[in-house]
Amino acid sequence: MTAMQSKVLLIEDNPGDARLVQEMLNEVPGFAFDIECIARLDSGVKRLARGDIDLLLLDLDLPDSRGLDTFIKAHTQATEVPIVVLTGFEDEKLGVNAVRKGAQDYLVKGKVDGNQLVHAVRYAIERSRAEETFKEMAYHDSLTGLPNRRGFSILAQLQLKIANRKKGSMLLLFADLDDLKSINDNLGHLEGDKALIETANLLLKTFRGSDIIARIGGDEFVVLALENSKECSEVLTNHLQKNLKARNMIGSRPYKLSLSVGTVRYDSQHPSSIDGLLEEADRLMYEQKRFNHKS
Ligand SMILES: [Mg+2]
Repeated sequence: MTAMQSKVLLIEDNPGDARLVQEMLNEVPGFAFDIECIARLDSGVKRLARGDIDLLLLDLDLPDSRGLDTFIKAHTQATEVPIVVLTGFEDEKLGVNAVRKGAQDYLVKGKVDGNQLVHAVRYAIERSRAEETFKEMAYHDSLTGLPNRRGFSILAQLQLKIANRKKGSMLLLFADLDDLKSINDNLGHLEGDKALIETANLLLKTFRGSDIIARIGGDEFVVLALENSKECSEVLTNHLQKNLKARNMIGSRPYKLSLSVGTVRYDSQHPSSIDGLLEEADRLMYEQKRFNHKS
């Protein structure tokens, strides 16, 4: 197992305590900590602002700040950095209060041993990494890596603001992967997953990096593109179908990838909501799907 190097910022004014903490962190085999030590809160906070810190070990009693205030100032500067607080013997209560305010943990100086220290630091770092991943997962579809419905909703609101500010227009394209159910039923879910990933890649290849491409449901994809004067919805749809055809020519797969598509235009002169656009595009897509099935 390779240990991931973790960057720890230690804000501690007592040189003896600082050395002890560094020694304890470095003594436990298997974990690599890169420790930076700063004696004052103001310079510590500046260092935090530069980023790239995995964990802050914070003595609350510093030359330029004391008590819970120390924690609050540091936490406000970098809310995403997990903090483990160091308190003296007499003010363990302060540690408890810091945890209530959002510290990951507290350690009492003179009471803590190396293993406890390493455990607290590792746990705080891992938990904060897990939270980051969880945040990402809540807005992303893990299969395709595209934003999910929630992610799309947030990104689309931003795009809408941009379009309104530029007095521009946007195209919303709703694409539904045809026959996903029969692919899943006849060829298995792995093949169905592959078809979804291929669809995502096809959309990524067809549209621009600035367009929002999302998977908002089982077989439902959407693209929200700021409109370029040269591109009307037909051009975009044709481009997509052309790439789809090319994709179906290469490789061997027991079915053809097929997409039903509906597009609507958003004009900032006649605003409507993202949900309204989605509904309309979905309806148009469905019309095309019915047509595809008849032909
Ligand atoms: Mg101190």
